[in-house]
Amino acid sequence: MTEPVPPAALLTHDATLDTDIVVIGAGPVGMAFALALADTPWRIALLDRQPSGAWAGDPRALALSHGTRQLLGRLGAWREQAGTPIHTIHVSQQGGFGRTLIDTADLALPALGHVMRYRDLAAALAAAIAQRQPALQWLHGCETLAIDAGDARVTVRRGAETLRIAARLVVHAEGAPAAATEAHVFDYRQHAVLAEVRPRPGHGHRAWERFTPDGPLALLPLGENYSVVFTVPAERSATLCALDDASFLAALRARFGRRLDFSACGPRSAWPLALRLRRTRVAPREAWIGNAAQTLHPVSGQGFNLGLRDAWELAERLAALPPGSDPGEAAPLAAWARARNADRLGSAAFTDGIVRLFSNDLAPLRAARGLGLLALDLAPPLRHFVARRMIWGARAWP
Ligand SMILES: Cc1cc2nc3c(=O)[nH]c(=O)nc-3n(C[C@H](O)[C@H](O)[C@H](O)COP(=O)(O)OP(=O)(O)OC[C@H]3O[C@@H](n4cnc5c(N)ncnc54)[C@H](O)[C@@H]3O)c2cc1C
Repeated sequence: MTEPVPPAALLTHDATLDTDIVVIGAGPVGMAFALALADTPWRIALLDRQPSGAWAGDPRALALSHGTRQLLGRLGAWREQAGTPIHTIHVSQQGGFGRTLIDTADLALPALGHVMRYRDLAAALAAAIAQRQPALQWLHGCETLAIDAGDARVTVRRGAETLRIAARLVVHAEGAPAAATEAHVFDYRQHAVLAEVRPRPGHGHRAWERFTPDGPLALLPLGENYSVVFTVPAERSATLCALDDASFLAALRARFGRRLDFSACGPRSAWPLALRLRRTRVAPREAWIGNAAQTLHPVSGQGFNLGLRDAWELAERLAALPPGSDPGEAAPLAAWARARNADRLGSAAFTDGIVRLFSNDLAPLRAARGLGLLALDLAPPLRHFVARRMIWGARAWP
């Protein structure tokens, strides 16, 4: 593997690329991981099967915790103007008593978090990566043909050419695993229907999490709009998506009573929801981060925040290795996987527990939930813990 490496844009024939770390998947987690290593001596190749900018049509808006904002800032990928701050979060249940309000005063922070479109987040990370090229090799439109993991060799096809990449570590950041054999999968049989709606009057930087018998319903302030994540049983999502704007807004109003009103609505899209937890996070010369390692229900907005912590902590461990070390060495990878367990399993249990506890209409559970929300509202230490859990992950524990 000593042939000179042509710049990514000039590969015109079957070629080889010799590198240290190959990252499969240039979603936000893969891009953040590559960026976090940009100032180290490691040579990094980041590849994605999509062309650059394919995220432009993604309708998701992500709630980014304060911790995520700080990490993105350190990566040079925080865009203040693209994020809408959250000052308060109102949590309640439909058809039952109890509510809790979390606000910035609980944590003495300027904002509990920010809401940003997936596409703006991806564009900010991509712009930061563009400034680091050629230290980071970014290959778009690459279909992975084979991974010879023990040797960390990856063969990809791009158009008519075949590229053989020799590395010492393969990091998987290609999103939710397709093969059920590699992951514990629980299908929630729910879909998240996404839309943007205009609140009347303005949102005042308040986010809403409303638990309904159908599933959780979140409103996240985004610019002048709310980004809606409307969870419903899978068999009802097509009907909800097909409603005209007035009927969709009426369905939303019906979930909130007279608390909220809306004046306009954008297009809808539906996303099937499942919990996928990869059984192993490391193998010889391989590691899995972000959604490739765990895909969570979107309730309480944990997925990307957790994936970024995966990426950051793995990059930190690799960067701390003595000069000349092998980045695919088993011991540091295993130590990273062990250290990430509490955050990963805690976040999965937190989101899964909320969905199971709240997505039903059983009277005794409704009463217990109401008491829980009331207790949360009346007991600041408990409320602070929940807020810290959402912001810092496992580090929320004292
Ligand atoms: C409705 C909804 C709402 C959400 N809301 C929030 C929220 O509020 N807050 C939050 O933190 N998270 C939220 N999430 C979760 C968040 O979207 C994910 O956790 C995050 O996108 C994971 O990023 P990733 O880079 O790991 O994976 P992805 O975003 O899935 O990116 C994977 C990348 O890998 C590429 N790829 C796939 N296969 C291959 C292959 N074989 N070879 C090469 N490249 C490949 C893809 O093209 C893509 O670019 C939400 C998710 C949903 C569905």
